[in-house]
Amino acid sequence: MQPSFPSSAESPLSDPQALFRLIDRHGRGFFSLEELQLALAAEGILPDDQRIGRLMQESGETRIDAAQWEELLQRHHIVQRALLKELVIPEFAAFRQSLEEIFEETKKNEKGKVADYIPQLARVDPDQFAVSVCTIDGQRFSLGDASTNFCLQSTCKPVNYCLAMDELGEEKVHSHVGREPSGRTFNELSLNNDGLPHNPLINAGAIMCLSLLKRELSPADRFDYVFDTWRRLCAGHAPAFNNAVYLSERQTADRNFALAYFMREKKAFPPDTDLIEALEFYFQCCSIESCTHHLALAAATLANAGINPLTDEEIFDDETVQHCMSLMLTCGMYDFSGEFAFRIGLPAKSGVSGALFLVVPNVMGISIWSPRLDKIGNSVRGVEFCERLIERYNFHLFDSLTRETAKINPRRRKYEGEFHRHIHLLYAASCGDLDEIKRLEAAGADLNLSDYDGRTALHLAVAENRPEVVAYLLSRQVDRTKQDRWGNTPLEEARRLEFAALVGLLARG
Ligand code: GLN
Repeated sequence: MQPSFPSSAESPLSDPQALFRLIDRHGRGFFSLEELQLALAAEGILPDDQRIGRLMQESGETRIDAAQWEELLQRHHIVQRALLKELVIPEFAAFRQSLEEIFEETKKNEKGKVADYIPQLARVDPDQFAVSVCTIDGQRFSLGDASTNFCLQSTCKPVNYCLAMDELGEEKVHSHVGREPSGRTFNELSLNNDGLPHNPLINAGAIMCLSLLKRELSPADRFDYVFDTWRRLCAGHAPAFNNAVYLSERQTADRNFALAYFMREKKAFPPDTDLIEALEFYFQCCSIESCTHHLALAAATLANAGINPLTDEEIFDDETVQHCMSLMLTCGMYDFSGEFAFRIGLPAKSGVSGALFLVVPNVMGISIWSPRLDKIGNSVRGVEFCERLIERYNFHLFDSLTRETAKINPRRRKYEGEFHRHIHLLYAASCGDLDEIKRLEAAGADLNLSDYDGRTALHLAVAENRPEVVAYLLSRQVDRTKQDRWGNTPLEEARRLEFAALVGLLARG
């Protein structure tokens, strides 16, 4: 379990100059913006982060001295939180390195085939592979071909659904589309028992969601609306539109036309729906392009309950995102969704371009892209990367956070468990809280441990005149001969402070 740290964003630092010294390693009394950038980049806060961009512009200088530093920290809490390692993945460099290993291992897998139902996808270099991570605090890194664009295809579907939910609400949206896994392929000609698409994440459901969106607008403005949502999801990085993909999609769309007519026959659409317009809208959204570097920001927005971590903009309502996550968990990976939920246990969405969105709720979003697909239509490397990630980290929604398991909890700071027990023990001893000492002892705290100054629990109990605690510690046979860095034993301390009762206790054998 995460102990709840008081966040520095709420409480001002008591010694901001200590952080200054952390960066000013050589004690020159200043450091350059580059040095600050490097220190932040080590925590995953990259130079193109809007929050840091503003910081650089405002300071206007290339050197930061101690006085400017305090002002800068007050204006930019992200700097303080990053340097204090208070972000959601505190040991970010180690996490990154570990994911690089997973990436390299996964890259060896050359199984699968690129989608070939349209020439634009068939021509894509199959060897490409990219992974980008963005945490809910905006810590980022990218691996491989992370700046190469690819089309969203089915990964546009969660966003279409969220937009429909935010505009029209659950009742209206789900009177037109179900929310059960179909157990069928994404484009199978089938509807549920009510004559509705099974869920919003298969083709029929996505066509339906788009048909509901902004019906009062012209087709051009409807597309702009979705396109602009993607831009905001990607923290202002505008996606692209692949017209060739769009034209090919339209030309090879017999199945999608069939699905739309089938839905119209069942009266699933709202009255006055222009079927062709809805289909065109769907082909256009599938043809939006971006790269993992930017799409990780969209995934992180979903991990962060609808708020973009870099811009802090609320893009979707938190409830909408919750509903979307439930659907991605149960229906996001085509007819592999049950198996994926079983093995990986995280909301995800794949597309035939080899794109894959993975969301670790309240932690991070991951965008993966590798074009070779398995028989079901999921990226082979994408799925393998997720499997390896879950093998190593306790990200599965049903991984225990209360028991120590073989998996790593990267939300935890180095030494955190021992560190807390230890600090608590010394603090409890100085406060005279004997019950707390017993609890910590039961939890495995070593009663003989000392702090950096060589002060043990016994030293502190003596210094604060806590006879009950001193007696207890002695009864537990702690080492009473330990000297602090000034050479004092607890007995010498008691004598110096003239605590006669304690001298008596400590002098007795
Ligand atoms: N655009 C394609 C279709 O509608 C593929 C969707 C997908 O990624 N599964 O058939």
